[in-house]
Amino acid sequence: QDDTPRVLSIQSHVVHGYVGNKSAVFPLQVLGFEVDSINTVQFSTHTAYKHIKGYVLNNDQMKELVEGLVLNEVDYYTHFLTGYSRSPDSLREIAKIIKQLREKNPNLIYVCDPVMGDNGKMYVPEEILPVYRDVLVPLADILTPNQFEAELITGIPMKDLDGALRVIQTLHDMGVKTVVLSSTDLGDEENMIGLASTGGSCYKIPIPKVEATFTGTGDLFAALFLAWSHLTGNDVKLALEKTIATLQSIVVDTYQTARASHLTGKIPPRFTELRLVQNKTVIEDPKIKLKAVKI
Ligand code: ATP
Ligand code: PLP
Ligand code: MG
Ligand code: MG
Repeated sequence: QDDTPRVLSIQSHVVHGYVGNKSAVFPLQVLGFEVDSINTVQFSTHTAYKHIKGYVLNNDQMKELVEGLVLNEVDYYTHFLTGYSRSPDSLREIAKIIKQLREKNPNLIYVCDPVMGDNGKMYVPEEILPVYRDVLVPLADILTPNQFEAELITGIPMKDLDGALRVIQTLHDMGVKTVVLSSTDLGDEENMIGLASTGGSCYKIPIPKVEATFTGTGDLFAALFLAWSHLTGNDVKLALEKTIATLQSIVVDTYQTARASHLTGKIPPRFTELRLVQNKTVIEDPKIKLKAVKI
């Protein structure tokens, strides 16, 4: 093997727009990663659009795709990335895949984005929670929940920074090496707070709020954090700064472009698709404007 990092990413595919693999694969490739992708669904667009059309990959089909990789001996990966999934069985299948990939590479890094909900609401079936908590989270090297997801997994509410630290410690105790909270409302009117911890040290970073709703940003976050952890030799502070710098540039550019054609009110989803292609140079070399601080 050469030393090119190799990722297997199991996520959604959309024909138009950027969520799941569509928001993860391009940034990873731009940053020098080989990416193999399994598409758990193929939808025309993401689910915030009015009409949802497309297909879901069933477990046997997912298993069969992995079987082909194994048989052809192309199942050596340095990283494994998973995101949005709606069925407990598919998560159990993913757990089997991790164990299988670790037979080929015991140092495989599993990056788990436990996508379950946001702002106090679950948007996947409730039966998913115990499978994340008891099966997948203990296998994760890097976990990237948002605030709500971290609270669900640990059963601990996060009302302030102390609560956040308790939640993070509980996730470490469950076996997670690096815990990253992609966003929390522990900031102020203008800023959310992101947090990253290796158990040894914990960092927080402000995330200036943009007045629009984006989709695919959580998936982009997980992919970027994976990439920058690797590229910085597991420097969580720098990885968090690079990740947030990239997201902030893309989100602001996407918002400004959308606003230019929608001067007031809520912007329809087709105008807030992430401007990834237009921000290729930002992805390659994000300029850090906001620093993370140790807490
Ligand atoms: P996950 O997918 O990990 O469960 P999530 O879907 O809740 O998390 P997002 O809310 O999309 O994740 O946030 C991921 C990142 O995207 C944030 O850290 C932030 O950098 C950026 N982001 C998303 N929405 C906004 C916004 N309205 N304003 C500013 N930044 C945003
Ligand atoms: N995959 C699909 C098909 C979706 O529709 C969505 C959100 O609507 C996502 C993934 C996750 O998006 P996000 O990265 O914003 O959490
Ligand atoms: Mg969110
Ligand atoms: Mg998400």
